[in-house]
Amino acid sequence: MYRTHNCGELCKKDIGKEVVLSGWIQKKRNLGSLCFIDIRDYFGITQLIFSKNLIEKFFLGKEFLIKIQGKVVERISKNNNIPTGEIEISVSQIEILNSSLPTPFTIENQTDGNEEIRMKYRYLDIRRNPIKNNLIIRHNLALEIRNFLSQNGFLEIETPVLINYTPEGARSFVVPSRTHVGKFYALAQSPQLFKQLLMIGGIDKYFQIVKCFRDEDARSDRQIEFTQIDCEMSFVEVDDVLIFFENFIKHLFRRIKNIQLESFPCISYSDAMKMYGTDSPDIRFGMPFIELNNLVQKKNISFLKEQELIIGIKVPKCHKNHDQMNSLFKKIENPNIFWIQYLSNKTLLSSNPDFFSEEIITIFINHFQAVPGDLLFISYGKRKNTRKTLGKVRLEIANHLNLKNSKIFKPLWVTDLPLLEWDERSKRYKSVHHPFTSPKKEDIHLLEKYPENIRSQSYDLIINGIEIGSGSIRIHNQNIQNLIFKHLGLSAKEIESEFGFFIKSFEYGTPPHGGIAFGLDRLINLLEGNDDIKNFIAFPKSNYGEDLMTKAPSFLKKEKLKELHLR
Ligand code: ASP
Repeated sequence: MYRTHNCGELCKKDIGKEVVLSGWIQKKRNLGSLCFIDIRDYFGITQLIFSKNLIEKFFLGKEFLIKIQGKVVERISKNNNIPTGEIEISVSQIEILNSSLPTPFTIENQTDGNEEIRMKYRYLDIRRNPIKNNLIIRHNLALEIRNFLSQNGFLEIETPVLINYTPEGARSFVVPSRTHVGKFYALAQSPQLFKQLLMIGGIDKYFQIVKCFRDEDARSDRQIEFTQIDCEMSFVEVDDVLIFFENFIKHLFRRIKNIQLESFPCISYSDAMKMYGTDSPDIRFGMPFIELNNLVQKKNISFLKEQELIIGIKVPKCHKNHDQMNSLFKKIENPNIFWIQYLSNKTLLSSNPDFFSEEIITIFINHFQAVPGDLLFISYGKRKNTRKTLGKVRLEIANHLNLKNSKIFKPLWVTDLPLLEWDERSKRYKSVHHPFTSPKKEDIHLLEKYPENIRSQSYDLIINGIEIGSGSIRIHNQNIQNLIFKHLGLSAKEIESEFGFFIKSFEYGTPPHGGIAFGLDRLINLLEGNDDIKNFIAFPKSNYGEDLMTKAPSFLKKEKLKELHLR
């Protein structure tokens, strides 16, 4: 028998029991006649006490796996930080189950190992509490998701991973076929078409916790292989989806974090751009843009008057010292931005005193109803760039002033994203969401002539400035779907060869349907206030898309390439 108990469960009520435990050596302290050893397993840590006579017979290093037999005794110096801190085991027998090399980094909560070495020996990293606990949280979250969706009538259905190549937005990984010479599969970027086909197949509500693959550069919030909570529902409109999934997200926050989220505000894409200069605004801090064009015209402020757009933000009560302010100003130095600082002693400072007189500065101060301590940033120029620039400045200020509290969660829906955007490089339209997204009913008349003006029935869930989910109501009309494909530059022949099966399915009574997919890795990362999704993935890829442990990707031998008809 390897154990009668695990290393995390023995306590005062077990004193006197004879037990067997197995675990890895975490720590060893030799006090001459006595030796203390902490052993660890998945469940916790237990302190062992050895007599000199017994311990002398063994060489025991860190991470040696040992099995011991002994008696539970009360500890003299108790450790209230761990559940087993009131007892220790007086060891009578010891067996080494496996020895260990010195580990390449310390297996402690705070480790000295850098990311590369931890990835290379990920199995050792997983022994550390922070990573192990993250995997437990991930499991608990997945369980809550499955329970909630199942209880609400969603059926979990697996869809294929090896599929046909379809242009879905990102680049696909391709897999050569051995049995079909010269042909390739693609790894699914998402189950999009299949979940829609499930709706056509009469499945009312579907979900899947599913691996998706996108051949993109990995980043701290993106992996080439990642997990989605993918959902689809029949007979729904935008509001049905938003209401249901707002409750879903609220439920997860309640269950996992014991946090009661407030109602999610809903703003259109165009308002998000106007108010925050981004389609994924962080609304933990205010500072929405104020448009100043009318003011500038009315007050006849030369130079600014000629600009396409003038917008500003007010940073209230910005009490920072001189050096901190200067470092902020330096960070956001930009010829199309100027700042006005209303100091506590009522002095007015500005970045361009030669250019904007005290009179003009006062106009802005009054317009923003600024009080001493406030800081204004004003951006001007071409519409799109001005918004983008001030959006970045807003985030930079929030970073600088520590306004991004990772314990506060502010979700919002951003809706009505444009259906298509013009891609200058390929000289054709691209879908903003994906080609199966339905246009808004009131914009359908623009489809032939003004496709870039069409808004879509789409929605993104943004939490703290991070896109956590994104979805849409789908096209269920064959003519509209064909027209969208045409706008995307697909010829009739290409539509037939790539999507023929899908277009065909529209001829068999396709129900109206819509759905959404959430990024599971990102959601956990956000819930836990972490800044790297790798910490919640058992075996993640590096930022260069490599598995540093198995060394994937790797070259194939000539014979293998030949077998796959690649040589
Ligand atoms: N398949 C979409 C995506 O991966 C999500 C959706 O529209 O449901 O972003």
